[in-house]
Amino acid sequence: MSNTSSNTSKQLSVPKIGVVSLGCPKALVDSERIMTQLRSEGYQFTGTHDEADVVIVNTCGFLDSAKEESLAAIGQAMKENGRVIVTGCMGAEPEQITTKYPNIMAITGPQQYETVVEAVHTAAPPVSDPFMDLIPEGGLKLTPRHYAYLKISEGCNNRCTFCIIPKLRGDLVSRPIHHVMFEAEKLVAAGVKEILLISQDTSAYGVDLKYAEYPWKGERRQTRFYDLCKAMGELGIWTRLHYVYPYPHVDDVIPLMADGKILPYLDIPFQHASPRVLKAMKRPGNQEKTLDRIRKWREICPDLTIRSTFIVGFPGETEEDFEYMLEWMQEAQIDRAGCFKYENVAGAPSRDLEDHVHEEVKQERWERFMEIQRQISETKQHAKIGKTLDVIIDEVDGEGGADARSKADAPEIDGKVLLRDLPSGIQPGDIIPVRVEDADDYDLFAVPV
Ligand code: SF4
Repeated sequence: MSNTSSNTSKQLSVPKIGVVSLGCPKALVDSERIMTQLRSEGYQFTGTHDEADVVIVNTCGFLDSAKEESLAAIGQAMKENGRVIVTGCMGAEPEQITTKYPNIMAITGPQQYETVVEAVHTAAPPVSDPFMDLIPEGGLKLTPRHYAYLKISEGCNNRCTFCIIPKLRGDLVSRPIHHVMFEAEKLVAAGVKEILLISQDTSAYGVDLKYAEYPWKGERRQTRFYDLCKAMGELGIWTRLHYVYPYPHVDDVIPLMADGKILPYLDIPFQHASPRVLKAMKRPGNQEKTLDRIRKWREICPDLTIRSTFIVGFPGETEEDFEYMLEWMQEAQIDRAGCFKYENVAGAPSRDLEDHVHEEVKQERWERFMEIQRQISETKQHAKIGKTLDVIIDEVDGEGGADARSKADAPEIDGKVLLRDLPSGIQPGDIIPVRVEDADDYDLFAVPV
């Protein structure tokens, strides 16, 4: 923060808020909403706990390891500040927090934006005459200005046995399509060049609203996955789809990808491939013909990148199931994959399943999985050497180098395209063609064309 703004802040006694945002992009969007609201009321933000009048910790409670990380972040905020408000997934089970930190000022659950804001009002009352126009058009974002996550729904109608998100966040509630598109237009007007659509189950979008129709850009549009993708394709920016389950209607958006309307990128959390394990997991969109469909998708859109996550060591997973998954992954040529070792999350029905897998076995399977994934990625990355790709610039180092991403790379989770010999004047958010010179397992090295 510049001296000028901190002096101004002191003169007006503008309360300063610290924010720690943990967890997935969905939680990040929640933090952004809370910050946007507070900023519009005149609050300022600080990156250091001891400068803040109150610290908000937005927690993640998806896995036990995430809970531990959340508790550690709360502990740090308590130690360095002592005035702490907790929100997010862990807020749905407040006793886990209060037994360790009884002096927390307030605890709210996920998506309870108004309750968080009220708690901030109590802890640090807003100034009566905030500066006007404190909020930039398009809201306040924690991601760099050129890309933004856009949440299209909350909650989930599925009941995967390892997951407690529906318990924490409730059933699916979609935002009407014109609301989503209005927010997308505002983001584009504010300079965003890439929008990442997120939710718990993106391809189920609109089912709760019975695909209600609303007008946007003079046309009736249904609150439906395909209509949303089509409308996003009319904005002239990069649109990336996350958390898509392979329901049959996903096939319909592949031609939009082939036509360059939305990015040829699908983040599909398959979690496993063995039909037996998928059944025990109660996974949505589980189809025997998924391999055939992936083949067809690639025939229509050869540049398609598929990202996924998998779980090893789910209760009852045998060596045979695990090998089935490895073979499936090789056949499907999943471009990018994350792998989690199964965790016995408190409250998840999978805890009660039989034949839990020993930790050493999970670790050994995890290592084998990661090695196969590395080999697939290495082969795919090397096949790109000599090709010309469009990349979006994320960060410029001022000495001719830059971090960029191709259409195949989502921010934070996928690889990068590292550039050299960048002409001056190129800014983050610019999209430029580059020629790939070299590759390692996950990153590419390229020069502008
Ligand atoms: S689809 Fe399954 S894993 Fe994903 S949020 Fe819903 S219940 Fe959880």
